[in-house]
Amino acid sequence: MLVKDRFYFILLNSTIFLITFYALFLKCFFPMKQSRIGFSNKSDLPLVSKNINGTPSYKSYDHLILMVIDAMRSDFILGKETHMKFTRHAIRNGHGLNFTAKVNPPTVTLPRIKALTTGGIPGFVDVVLNFGCESLQEDNIITQMKRCGKNLVFYGDDTWIKLFPQHFIREEGTTSFFVTDYTEVDNNVTRHLPDELNKTDWTMMILHYLGLDHIGHMSGPFSPLIKPKLEEMDQIIEMIYKQMEIWDQREETSMMVICGDHGMSDQGGHGGASQGETSVPVIFLSPSIKHYNNDQMKLNIKQIDLAPTLATLMNIPIPLNNLGTIILDSLIGLTTTEKVQAIFSNAYQVSALLQFSIDSFEKNKGYILYNQTSKRYIEWLEDKDTLSKIARENQGQSIINNFIRCIELMTDEIQESSTVYDIHGMIVFIIFIWLILVLLLIYQPVILKTSDICSKIYTILISSCGVIIFIHLTVCTSQYKSMLLCNNDSVSSITIQVLGLGSFMLLVYQIVSLWTGTLNNPQNHTREYGSTISINCSEFNGVTGITIY
Ligand SMILES: [Zn+2]
Repeated sequence: MLVKDRFYFILLNSTIFLITFYALFLKCFFPMKQSRIGFSNKSDLPLVSKNINGTPSYKSYDHLILMVIDAMRSDFILGKETHMKFTRHAIRNGHGLNFTAKVNPPTVTLPRIKALTTGGIPGFVDVVLNFGCESLQEDNIITQMKRCGKNLVFYGDDTWIKLFPQHFIREEGTTSFFVTDYTEVDNNVTRHLPDELNKTDWTMMILHYLGLDHIGHMSGPFSPLIKPKLEEMDQIIEMIYKQMEIWDQREETSMMVICGDHGMSDQGGHGGASQGETSVPVIFLSPSIKHYNNDQMKLNIKQIDLAPTLATLMNIPIPLNNLGTIILDSLIGLTTTEKVQAIFSNAYQVSALLQFSIDSFEKNKGYILYNQTSKRYIEWLEDKDTLSKIARENQGQSIINNFIRCIELMTDEIQESSTVYDIHGMIVFIIFIWLILVLLLIYQPVILKTSDICSKIYTILISSCGVIIFIHLTVCTSQYKSMLLCNNDSVSSITIQVLGLGSFMLLVYQIVSLWTGTLNNPQNHTREYGSTISINCSEFNGVTGITIY
């Protein structure tokens, strides 16, 4: 190989390595969330005592309507002035509950739908995946509904259809591609409503309206186009609510949940973490909610709370990776015992997730409180006759509060652990990127003069980088993490890492010696092969001596 060609060859190799390392560095900086695989079952819940089954056995709603209005800010409905008069009126009349939900950034549709349905917090990687998404494999309420034999229909943003293929008995997707269209995109959803509201074969209907988001992108939240759009949404809510009243007369229960997937910034966009983007309304409307006093409720919730809440309303299992807490105020008509059962199943699910995510879960304050409260809960369930009704209610309420507190403590720790960057990996990659740069700098004249001993060092270093990264990515960042290889705190682990790497480098050195010896200098073969690691770098020093600028 010509000297010039050799230089270009090394340069090309180094560029490829640099790009690879950079990509791997980003992977560590934006860690993929580790999640539990599979689906939860009602039978997972422990039998709390010999006689009492922990599974709540209330009747779920006959019809649940989830209406997602894309980019709906909380002040559009809950602000001082609203253009959604019917909705506001229904809440004031006591037929609705209103909450402001905090949304986690990134405030983009795909991760938000995932959060709504799984109760988990998707990472920034999901923004990249926002375009061209695949079906959702993680446990979620939509798949749970299907598994429980409940029929779903869907109309609106086609992201849902991509995430949940073959989940809906009837569906039609609209696309957010034509941002200038804010009329047809919503009419294509609404035109299905009269038909669907007269059908009785579905249990859950999901509607996702995109028009408001498109107006936001075009002209912002203070545009004159906002008012007619909100009035249009209000009329749709009224139309559905009228049908719910008819169902109510027929003694069919129904609940409508209206929410935004994310909000809208004052400039009209979304994706960031501003107040407008991260505050969305969540409204429960139902004729079965009667004269509810919104003043006594906790009005601020998290968006992820919707997943366990909808699961509880429909009496399906809470998804495995949920980090939300059931909104207890929305459980209309449930007895205290049923509410305690519901929040217990939530706490149980979160405790299982904690055990999966954290090695030292037993030390977590929330987990300790969960164990204590579970014991109290069993005693409370068994001790039905000795307590007065009021004392029983009070104790039940205190158990509920304790379960809510322990869910908070446990989810805090799980979230903290999942947002920790892979510092180990990042340091390794930074060192190697610098190593390549430094090598390129000092090695450039060496390559031009050709020296096999130094090209061996280069090869050995580069292949060692490859091995470390390969081991790190396959073993240390996967679910099957090896404490022996990835733990940088213990002496034994570091010794094994250093010894392993040393023997690997020795092996590569031998192979390279053999290879270059046979290729370039058959006479020197025996000397090179036999010299093992005693590297003679005099040639290298000689050349670098000249090249220090
Ligand atoms: Zn948008």
